[in-house]
Amino acid sequence: MIEERIQQPDQSIEVENALKVVRPTLGGDAGVALYRLLRLVAMEDIMGRGAAGTAYLAGKKLGLSLGLRRIEDFLQLCNDLKIGVIEVPVATESKIHVDVYECVTCSGLDPVGRPICHFEGGLIAGVVQGITGKSVRAHEVTCIGGLGHDACGFDLEFR
Ligand SMILES: [Zn+2]
Repeated sequence: MIEERIQQPDQSIEVENALKVVRPTLGGDAGVALYRLLRLVAMEDIMGRGAAGTAYLAGKKLGLSLGLRRIEDFLQLCNDLKIGVIEVPVATESKIHVDVYECVTCSGLDPVGRPICHFEGGLIAGVVQGITGKSVRAHEVTCIGGLGHDACGFDLEFR
């Protein structure tokens, strides 16, 4: 019954619902181009540099809402969603550094002179905050398409 599936018009779209994909012909995958046009072209066109903060906050809220309890689950999610190839070369009580190779947002761009992977940074910060229970901020210190590095690297600051 379609009436039973229609939710209240003002209800927010939950992660679980958003990830329900029924596309018999096309399946669950779409091109990286679609995401980049939304994130890098449309959002920046409308919001200007404010898109950075919005993308970071969106990633952080999403990361927190996933309710992940183990870093392995996050690595699996990144793999499933093809966000990038994630490596965590530094992980101590006080310092975590995360590298994202083949970043969905920026890998392959001609460098634009500034880090641009705020959504990914927010997502990592939100997930780690959810796991550790500590307030976390991610600083993007290297960026493939932003600055010409090999990976998008994020230093996590605990506060
Ligand atoms: Zn990137």
